Amino acid sequence: MHIYKVGGAVRDRLLGRPVSDIDWLVVGATVEEMQAQGFRPVGADFPVFIHPKTGEEYALARTERKSGRGYGGFTFHASPEVTLEEDLIRRDLTINAMAEDDQGNLHDPYRGKADLDKRILRHVSPAFAEDPLRVLRVARFAARYAPLGFHVADETLELMRQISTSGELQALTAERSWKEIERALMEAQPQVFIEVLRDCGALQQLMPELDPSPQALAPLQQAAGHRQPLHVRWACLLQGVRDTSQLKAVNHRFKAPRECQELALLVGECLPLAHRAMELEAAALLELLQKFDVYRRPQRFEDFIAACEMEALARQAESYPQAAYLRGAASAARGVDVKPLVAQGLTGQALGEALKAERLQALTRYKG
Ligand code: ATP
Ligand code: MG
Repeated sequence: MHIYKVGGAVRDRLLGRPVSDIDWLVVGATVEEMQAQGFRPVGADFPVFIHPKTGEEYALARTERKSGRGYGGFTFHASPEVTLEEDLIRRDLTINAMAEDDQGNLHDPYRGKADLDKRILRHVSPAFAEDPLRVLRVARFAARYAPLGFHVADETLELMRQISTSGELQALTAERSWKEIERALMEAQPQVFIEVLRDCGALQQLMPELDPSPQALAPLQQAAGHRQPLHVRWACLLQGVRDTSQLKAVNHRFKAPRECQELALLVGECLPLAHRAMELEAAALLELLQKFDVYRRPQRFEDFIAACEMEALARQAESYPQAAYLRGAASAARGVDVKPLVAQGLTGQALGEALKAERLQALTRYKG
């Protein structure tokens, strides 16, 4: 049997980038031989094993055939006769279809190294069209490697366009799509992900609610530049979608995590208020703080402020004094002590109302 390092590990080493996880490919072995060597199978009918010591993934060389619509409709054929070249040709991009043997020799039948040098993302074969997720993967790699000058090959973009117009993207599960979206948003240039999806017509299929113009994508770019977490980036991506039902539709379509969904909705609803923070009456300010429950969920309000700030900076604002102002208002309201009110014998609704009145006074003083 022959064991090769494949995929991202080979690509990123050649690019001089840090290699996070290594994928191994085993050619010329049977399932029984792998198990005899102590490898643990990851699933009953999937030819992938876990190394007993390193925990890394070892996949048997396989060919794939599409047998129906969507990802479920794939049949694998793994056997000791499947060659390295046959395994590599089923991969998405040429730069992902290189292998390295234990002597450090590069095996590169589809000229991935040349494309790497030319900074081109190019599909390996027409079989690319068999898995629509590859449209999102290519867009994600474009976002990741944009700072290095990579772009999508014309013929690959054309193929992505055909896949998009065929309607096949609708067959992707929310989970598979979200995993790509999430990883793409965390890249250095996430707006490139959206731009590539736009350019091949996939965005129209996946998120027709989005405005993919440079101005509309600028807040996301800011968020990445400021290394904001995923949910702030998601809220920044969707900040242009002001219609609540559309926001909900996008959130649900990809089963975005709760934190992402919630922040996107709050930003959609309250961003204009944050921008006008200094002009708000104490009562409106209090309403905003109550809505966010800044007493029990201070971080969520911070995330909201961050998203609003990214949107303002994206419109060339030099600074965002509203951020400090809103934080100050939150701490003024939080500073109201409930104990004296309880000591007065207040309970239930009366206590709630007294607390609110005190907070309103605190905010009035804060506004000065
Ligand atoms: P990353 O750095 O994001 O992990 P990667 O290239 O290692 O990048 P993986 O998702 O770990 O990406 O997949 C490992 C390899 O398996 C890829 O390099 C590619 O060759 C192949 N691959 C993974 N998913 C697909 C797919 N949907 N279609 C075709 N090939 C794929
Ligand atoms: Mg990988």
